[in-house]
Amino acid sequence: MAPVMPLPVSSPMTAFPQPDAAWLDNFQEKLLTWFAANRRPLPWRQDYQPYHIWISEVMLQQTQMERGVAYFRRWISRFPDVAAVAAADRDELLKYWEGLGYYSRLDNLRRAAQALIERHGGTLPDNLEELQRLPGIGQYTAAAIASIAFGRDVALVDANVTRLLARLFDLEQPLYDQAGRRLVENIATALLPSGQARDYNQALMELGALLCAPKRPRCLACSLNRLCLAQKHGTATLRPKPRRAIVKTNLPMAAAVLVHDGHVLLRQRPAKGMWAGLWEFPGLILGPDQDAAALAEEVRHLIGVDVVLEKLARIEHHHTRYRVLLDGYFCHLSTQPQKTPDRCRWVKVEELAAYALSAGHRRLAGLIPPAVAPRK
Ligand code: SF4
Repeated sequence: MAPVMPLPVSSPMTAFPQPDAAWLDNFQEKLLTWFAANRRPLPWRQDYQPYHIWISEVMLQQTQMERGVAYFRRWISRFPDVAAVAAADRDELLKYWEGLGYYSRLDNLRRAAQALIERHGGTLPDNLEELQRLPGIGQYTAAAIASIAFGRDVALVDANVTRLLARLFDLEQPLYDQAGRRLVENIATALLPSGQARDYNQALMELGALLCAPKRPRCLACSLNRLCLAQKHGTATLRPKPRRAIVKTNLPMAAAVLVHDGHVLLRQRPAKGMWAGLWEFPGLILGPDQDAAALAEEVRHLIGVDVVLEKLARIEHHHTRYRVLLDGYFCHLSTQPQKTPDRCRWVKVEELAAYALSAGHRRLAGLIPPAVAPRK
């Protein structure tokens, strides 16, 4: 059995064990060799186009890898380059983004694409400073593009990297505050092999995702296990120290699926705020004493018709800060609506799929009875 590598030397200045040259060589060699043999064949890894790296990074900040790959493929087939994004209608972009959430990021993406056309001829700049001047491109995304697309020597730290480094050095301190984040960035930078940032950053993230899993790290299969202090101390599942959970507020809402003559009423949300610009079935946020009667009143106010609402389902879905409790109701109108309010549109039921809906309303759309909503 190979011996555990000698402990690196601690430094009070940086508060993490400083690796010596032999340890560092060994670590880099093991990590990069593992990555070369185990990297997943992700679509943006074919040629590392900067535009592809940008889109994949923004999408993967919001969803799991498998789902992100599906979104990425669909997006790239419709918007193959920066120019296509800059020229696209927001509603169409929204349709391709539907389900990813964080819709303000989509607006930033579009504004950044337009800025790239105006300032950089439609190509992404290769340095952190200029990348960070683009709307919505913060330090992390800029570092990802600079290192993975352009090979710049910039370390990248995400949740997978934080977990892996916390275990590698058996770090007890909190890592999700400012000081903790800086510490992990310093470690990631200190371990970076010059000129190999593309593979190094991806290798740390990949190993963190595939082997150094949050609850069940696969230490026996891990090529770093002889170097890993948490593995040696039996503390892997205790690292990193968990962050405080975000307490979400319940947000009770109600919405009415109003069907008339094969059409359903949709309302577009305002351009700013939660679910900006998405379409939804008309409804409201319920106050403490409100129920379906308040929704019926809202409908009467909107289309000038009294309705009898039939409960479809309660749908729970999550927003960054809220747990949305959406009560969905159904009404097949027999009387002609008196008016079509602002931002509202009667659309054919079978054309609902062409509209970008929030996750909760998309699930509600799937509950429309087939008898009144013949599907293709
Ligand atoms: S040995 Fe285990 S805890 Fe250490 S880096 Fe590998 S998977 Fe993570």
